[in-house]
Amino acid sequence: MTETTTAVNPPGGSTVTEPARRLPVRAQVDVAVCGGGPAGFIAAVAAARAGASVLLLERHGFLGGMATAGMVGPMSKFNLGGERIVDGIPGEFIRALHAAGGAIIDLPGGNVPYDVESYKLAAQRITRRSGAGILLHALVVGAIASGGEPGRLTHVIIETKSGREAVAANQFVDCTGTGDLVARASLPCGMRNRRAGGGLQPMSLYFRLGGVDTGRLNVLMARDGARYANPELRAVLAEEVRAGRLRNFGGPWAVHGSTIRPGEVSVNATRIAGNAADAADLSLAELVLREEVPVMVDSFRRHHKAFTHCHLLETAAQVGIRETRAIQGLYTLTAADVLAARPFADSVALGGHPIDMHGAEGGAQSVRFLTAPYHIPYRTLVPEGSANVLVAGGTLSATREAFGSARVQAQCMALGQAAGVAAAICALDGESVSRLDGAALGARLRADGALV
Ligand SMILES: Cc1cc2nc3c(=O)[nH]c(=O)nc-3n(C[C@H](O)[C@H](O)[C@H](O)COP(=O)(O)OP(=O)(O)OC[C@H]3O[C@@H](n4cnc5c(N)ncnc54)[C@H](O)[C@@H]3O)c2cc1C
Repeated sequence: MTETTTAVNPPGGSTVTEPARRLPVRAQVDVAVCGGGPAGFIAAVAAARAGASVLLLERHGFLGGMATAGMVGPMSKFNLGGERIVDGIPGEFIRALHAAGGAIIDLPGGNVPYDVESYKLAAQRITRRSGAGILLHALVVGAIASGGEPGRLTHVIIETKSGREAVAANQFVDCTGTGDLVARASLPCGMRNRRAGGGLQPMSLYFRLGGVDTGRLNVLMARDGARYANPELRAVLAEEVRAGRLRNFGGPWAVHGSTIRPGEVSVNATRIAGNAADAADLSLAELVLREEVPVMVDSFRRHHKAFTHCHLLETAAQVGIRETRAIQGLYTLTAADVLAARPFADSVALGGHPIDMHGAEGGAQSVRFLTAPYHIPYRTLVPEGSANVLVAGGTLSATREAFGSARVQAQCMALGQAAGVAAAICALDGESVSRLDGAALGARLRADGALV
């Protein structure tokens, strides 16, 4: 992106030295989980149930990450070919959400539409009932390593309304989705496109519409193998781009994703290229896409009968971030592993979502559907050189293509369960995450109801 969001830019390379200061230590726990999205809250539950004392640190005022703040539903991919591929704590969570009237869990494709508000509540309930502590409005901003060894952390630094503080822990799990902790700890990581090249997958701001004649749309994510982008809406938005009223769009997908009510759809259509780990790009994405939402709503209303009486209910609290940092892990999952369903002795989760890649520029998307579930090994969660830091969710070690499949919510939750149990074992047994027996971890997860 070339535009800037600040009125005054300092001279390039300008820096200032921040004076050192003593920080209060807010808590001391076995496991600190950074980020309370799909991977993070499941990791916190798993670690607490495995006997560890846990603190979950989340920058927003609620849990759920992209699922709630970004509204990026439905939750994919719990089934492949009609068979369950993710269960365990994520399965328990969606069943609880369903029981509370907040999700549709029986669609054969294994995509789970849900209600965002019900999700927030169900996520905090399952986490609190596990015994894990939650600190909201806590932004992870730094890490303190032991004796200059970046892979062995003693504290994570947070900014809260109380000021700058530290949390001491034996083990750390980075579930920020953007690798904030591993980057601050100088563990091996980089932008996911650093080797393969090309722009990062675009950001998208979701919005939710009411007053839609959903009977005229295929709104449920009901089948595997189907593309849901609506061709009529696509033509409408293409015209807006030609007329210069929109810069770009994707899909559009107007479905029961992060809503389950008749007459409502959540819409995934806006998109902008940029690096969401860069403050200026992220800010500009929010500003530009918020301008484009009313253009899209107006266009839908004028050109498609299902939307004639629609109205904007809300935009997501934050732009959706598809791709930023990835760790350099002890193993990197590849497209060949995914397509061949290669077995791994240390498998800790199964995947089955298509390899779904959105082009940085233009509205391009490439989708390769899978016929068999593939395995994700524990080593993809372990940064090289790490003694007590794991990741789960969006920063796992995978090539761009493999990540194009593994990046979805059910898989991130399953990896959260794996990382949470691994962190608890390491905290309680004094083991290093790099030496943990991944096959034994897989057996333990299986005994706990996970599908590995
Ligand atoms: C446009 C778009 C569409 C998508 N569509 C789908 C879909 O249809 N189905 C699907 O299953 N998946 C979809 N996804 C993928 C989905 O977003 C991810 O699978 C999922 O959110 C990853 O979970 P996570 O926990 O790893 O990260 P996140 O959901 O990003 O959660 C990270 C959490 O960490 C918190 N956090 C971040 N930084 C810090 C910090 N420094 N300190 C404290 N807290 C922090 C965040 O607030 C957040 O709560 C989509 C993603 C995008 C962007």
